[in-house]
Amino acid sequence: MDLRVLYMYAAALALLLCSAATFIQSPTDVFGPVALLEPTPSSARDFGAVVSDAPFGILRPGSSADIALLLGALSSAPPRPRATVAARGVGHSLQGQAQARDGIVVETRSLPRTVVVVAARAGRVSGEATEHAYADVGAGALWVEVLEECLKAGLAPLSWTDYLYLTVGGTLSNAGISGQAFKHGPQISNVLQLQVVTGNGEVVTCSRTKSPDLFFAVLGGLGQFGIITRARILLQEAPPKVRWVRAFYDSFETFTKDQELLISMPEQVDYVEGFMVLDEHSIRSSSIAFPARIDFSPDFGSEGRKKVYYCIEFAVHDFQPDGSSSSVDHVVELVAGRMSHMRSHMYSVEVSYFDFLNRVRMEEESLRRQGLWDVPHPWLNMFVPKHGIAQLKDLLMDTVLAGDFQGAILVYPLLTDKWDGNTSAVIPSAPDGVMYILSVLRSADPSRCGRGCVEEILEQHRRVADEACRAGGGIGAKQYLARQPTQVHWRTHFGPSWDRFLARKARYDPVRVLGPGQGIFPWTDSASSM
Ligand code: FAD
Repeated sequence: MDLRVLYMYAAALALLLCSAATFIQSPTDVFGPVALLEPTPSSARDFGAVVSDAPFGILRPGSSADIALLLGALSSAPPRPRATVAARGVGHSLQGQAQARDGIVVETRSLPRTVVVVAARAGRVSGEATEHAYADVGAGALWVEVLEECLKAGLAPLSWTDYLYLTVGGTLSNAGISGQAFKHGPQISNVLQLQVVTGNGEVVTCSRTKSPDLFFAVLGGLGQFGIITRARILLQEAPPKVRWVRAFYDSFETFTKDQELLISMPEQVDYVEGFMVLDEHSIRSSSIAFPARIDFSPDFGSEGRKKVYYCIEFAVHDFQPDGSSSSVDHVVELVAGRMSHMRSHMYSVEVSYFDFLNRVRMEEESLRRQGLWDVPHPWLNMFVPKHGIAQLKDLLMDTVLAGDFQGAILVYPLLTDKWDGNTSAVIPSAPDGVMYILSVLRSADPSRCGRGCVEEILEQHRRVADEACRAGGGIGAKQYLARQPTQVHWRTHFGPSWDRFLARKARYDPVRVLGPGQGIFPWTDSASSM
């Protein structure tokens, strides 16, 4: 009998044993009230475009109860064969993490996406003390949708990703970082409450004080413990405008020293990032959203050795009404006066807060016009302790960045004390409390880099990551957003928190239905076999 049919019978049988659901009418109408649909091409694709695993069905849940019915049935079905389930936001994963080969993909975009904004007031909400403004949002909402709704009340979340067309559930399952993270921590540090359907099919509302272990497990939990259906996100007053500044460097040491200076000034500075400038192309592509004329003609090493430049990007929120002489000018002057960038190569613009946060959208549109958005994206993202960042940059220059490169390379510092060690997110140990995110965001234009070339890049990334993440004597970096190639790699990745991760899996998804696309827990008939 075909494996798919077996799955469906097992699941439907379990459901029949514990509910009054109607029996299978067709392969795509398995769960009575929870109808599975035929897969679409997008359920076997993601932004990375290097992994393609087709599910046998998809679920478009209308509520948490639909997901609970599915997971409850599967977790109580006879052990073998059992379908696995992956939550999928908009599939902006890089290596199949939101896919489920021969399993079920739960598309969270179909959940209610209402955004309910509650202004700050001291008191108790659902039994929890709160004095903060917050938004209750559906996990399938895009961050841009959350922003649009919150701005109507003059509010906004504190911590962002660079790109806003990602779902709340998707980024909270990873970490969610951008230039605000040095000040407010990653997005997972700015959540007050979650509604989660566990692998057992239980719907649980959790927070730091209510079912805290589940709350922390799911944050950065790579979709392993439950499917987030709603989230309560912390808000702050939104500035109408932002002063956005860029300064150029020809020394990596000075560049990182200045970045570290900026993150030590959270009272003045609201956002800090930075990127490498390898060639003319990277200046042009990074300037699409930055509406200032950059009068900078770098020498990219025409005489032999490749010259590399670096650009710090920082921003200051501007709350002044239009037309008034702004205190922001004063702040920028003060901050810039302490920086050591190339003289006369600092540029600044004033943009609306929305345009600032939505800046990558313009780059997306430009890449789409060039046919360079829906292409493979072999990306490499690493959290690197401060002491190893220069070494890793050199290693990348000698390997991954030595040849033809199309894309962006982000480098910026974060403070480890803004990350809650109770969450499932993994960061390196950084004795001085500073780590960097180093992101090699490559687009592989099929006309210049075919399948074999993409494979080679991925292999090169694996070698660099193995070297950078090697425990004991190595740089001690940790990968972000990566699917590890083997179980041994996953154990090394989690390090001391592996046992806690394993215990949480046993508690919330004991039969290992969830998150097959991460490759952490291969299906076994004994949950204790690892
Ligand atoms: P998906 O890719 O669909 O899912 C991601 C993972 O989470 C999967 O394992 C999935 O099973 C799981 N998951 C999804 N929804 C849920 C849910 N509701 N409950 C439980 N598990 C769930 N990340 C940053 O931190 N900072 C950035 O600046 C940033 N910029 C990006 C820019 C671009 C152009 C892209 C493509 C990605 C960027 N990312 C960034 C990465 C992003 O955080 C991840 O791609 C993440 O996967 C979000 O995408 P998604 O919402 O489509 O989730």
